[in-house]
Amino acid sequence: TTGGTEEADIEGAEKVQTRVTYNIVFVTSEAAPYSKTGGLGDVCGSLPIVLAARGHRVMVVSPRYLHGGLADKNFAGASELDCHIKVYCFGGEQEVAFFHEYREGVDWVFLDHPSYHRPGNPYGDSQGAFGDNQFRFALLCHAACEAPLVLPLGGYTYGEKCLFLVNDWHAGLVPVLLASKYRPYGVYKDARTILVIHNLAHQGVEPAVTYTNLGLPSEWYGALGWVFPTWARTHALDTGEAVNLLKGAIVTVDRILTVSKGYAWEITTVEGGYGLHELLSSRRSVLNGITNGIDIYEWNPSSDKHIASNYSVDDLSGKVQCKIALQKELGLPIKPDCPMIGFIGRLDYQKGIDLIRWATPELLEDDVQFVMLGSGDPLYEDWMRATESTYKDKFRGWVGFNIPISHKITAGADILLMPSRFEPCGLNQLYAMRYGTVPVVHGTGGLRDTVQAFDPYSKGGLGEGTGWIFSPLSKESMLAALRVAIMTYRDHKSSWEGIMKRGMVRDSTWENAAVQYEQVFEWAFIDPP
Ligand code: ADP
Repeated sequence: TTGGTEEADIEGAEKVQTRVTYNIVFVTSEAAPYSKTGGLGDVCGSLPIVLAARGHRVMVVSPRYLHGGLADKNFAGASELDCHIKVYCFGGEQEVAFFHEYREGVDWVFLDHPSYHRPGNPYGDSQGAFGDNQFRFALLCHAACEAPLVLPLGGYTYGEKCLFLVNDWHAGLVPVLLASKYRPYGVYKDARTILVIHNLAHQGVEPAVTYTNLGLPSEWYGALGWVFPTWARTHALDTGEAVNLLKGAIVTVDRILTVSKGYAWEITTVEGGYGLHELLSSRRSVLNGITNGIDIYEWNPSSDKHIASNYSVDDLSGKVQCKIALQKELGLPIKPDCPMIGFIGRLDYQKGIDLIRWATPELLEDDVQFVMLGSGDPLYEDWMRATESTYKDKFRGWVGFNIPISHKITAGADILLMPSRFEPCGLNQLYAMRYGTVPVVHGTGGLRDTVQAFDPYSKGGLGEGTGWIFSPLSKESMLAALRVAIMTYRDHKSSWEGIMKRGMVRDSTWENAAVQYEQVFEWAFIDPP
């Protein structure tokens, strides 16, 4: 149970206390493999399993999305619990049901409500974001607060003394609800809350009048109340008054984490704070960063089922086979020695996709191949299609979200390009390094924290580093870094192999991160809420 200790028997010794274990409740809008649009899904799909393996009792609460497509089968293993509850928000009682699957030591709990059953992704469809997202995620938070109290998982509830790990704005109401609706009545007195910020650019901002929908006492308006900066107001009479769910979480949680140390600092600056930098600075004493790990079983070049040929740091020969297979599959000329650059990610301003667009004609003057996989902004989806027909022998743009293809590009490419404007952690560079694919990244947030810049002269000329980091964010500096990388690939084979191998043996396991998370859990329980 929470706050209990795991005991271990050591031969001939007294029982020794190992580490404290907690009852942990993740609240998240995504958890892979059930639902995923980006890194949040990856994190909430793998960290819970690692924490459970370390002795914690772990529940993940997330919506049961049914989009009417193949992905619906992801939820097939979860069965309905005999526990329907009513939560009060949006002017009435909302009835919700829970589904449950116990897998890999974790209680995966899926909240069921008709508003989660519609085509698209968790947040929207081809028309844009769903108009009722505030409702859909407020519902998630209300129900998640009830889950530890009412769900008899494996025979008994998690109870009040638990630790809520709330992720991004979608889960932001959880600490606000604890502070305003539970603790004043003596419930959850000993619970703790930790907010994990995966992306500060999304905050769950809606007009101030929607406050009354949220099911919070009116005295707590100040926690969520927020005023848009003047430049962001739409017309002269717009007072800019809004409610901001992420802000609500920032001012009520016990601890704040981001997914890398660099990003924890960046969000306290004007440039990175998206209007919340002063508030975040004021909470600096409880703010910290822990770099994400990766699922080393899903992302393992020596056993990956999606790729044409498996390989490892001891035998790299399969990697070029992966490149050839990818060239065949995409109808590119089969050229094993041609440097292949890859990009995988959301087609979003955040990812520096505009820079890629400007740079592509110049980049493709060289004898290189460039493969992109992504979906998002229709402007860039169209650009990818058009570029593919202009540069038939050099460029492929796969529009869509496709996990097998993402593995094939990660294995087949030589270079992975990530010119992100900001990057809270970034996972693709971690996957790339594990596959001996050399990252070329903009020096920001988690990219700067995880990629070590190549230095050919250090270690007595042996060189060190795992990739290239360019700065500032400009087409010119990006192209310069790419050119040095391409030149190293072509002309300095042994340096290149050194870069690949150092990346492949880099420790990106979740165990590393999990130990740091445990330290934050302990720290959270030191102070009373
Ligand atoms: P973000 O969370 O900002 O989207 P991350 O790098 O943290 O960025 O995580 C992105 C995750 O989503 C990675 O697992 C990446 O492989 C995956 N991903 C992004 N776009 C696609 C796509 N089009 N097809 C398949 N996987 C994708």
